[in-house]
Amino acid sequence: MTQEIEEYKKIRVGVLALQGAFAEHIILLNTLPQVSEAVAVRNGQEIAQVDALVIPGGESTTMALIAERSGFWPALQEFVQTHPTWGTCAGLILLSETITSGGTLKGDQKLLGGLGISIKRNAFGTQKESFEAGLHVEGLEDAARLFPGVFIRAPAIDQILKPDEVQVVAKLERDYGTTPKGTIVAVKQGHLLGSAFHPELTRDNRMHLYFVKMAQEYIAKQSK
Ligand code: GLN
Repeated sequence: MTQEIEEYKKIRVGVLALQGAFAEHIILLNTLPQVSEAVAVRNGQEIAQVDALVIPGGESTTMALIAERSGFWPALQEFVQTHPTWGTCAGLILLSETITSGGTLKGDQKLLGGLGISIKRNAFGTQKESFEAGLHVEGLEDAARLFPGVFIRAPAIDQILKPDEVQVVAKLERDYGTTPKGTIVAVKQGHLLGSAFHPELTRDNRMHLYFVKMAQEYIAKQSK
């Protein structure tokens, strides 16, 4: 596990806990000295008390539905527009501008948006076709060491809609089923990070460190 203290202020990180793999994110975030506390976020009061947010993997349609029914959606959307946010898997889908195709897609699936990409849901097939891929993640600590990318009914980034703003962070290094080598699986745009894989299901906290440092830098710049 990688640990390093920066001169930046520690941050309080929320993990959207409406559904999905939120507990695992909280555990990994709490291993980082840069994080004062990682907490579950379920409503407008709780989101107002965090500096940054992680939207976990799970089921993007269910998360959107719960947030909407509970009246949390507008506060969630406002937070994502202005604060560092990282979406993993279903979270990446929610941060996308548009959905190209995939799975049980209903035309009216609600998205938070923010990342200038279009996404293909369930690009790699069903749960049975889950796999692990070694990835080179740009800017990751100890970057030569491959990151274990866990893909479970994962989406793939279909198209970069805003090439001037979106930075590619990771790509598949070989073909996986019908999904070709070179498929984009992680991107960054300003204060937003998205990954198609699940770093919270590994013991490697480098992606969490990457996000927390990105969030600290963004927050420090905002307060200047
Ligand atoms: N297929 C799911 C969705 O569309 C995402 C799967 C995941 O988060 N592991 O929301």
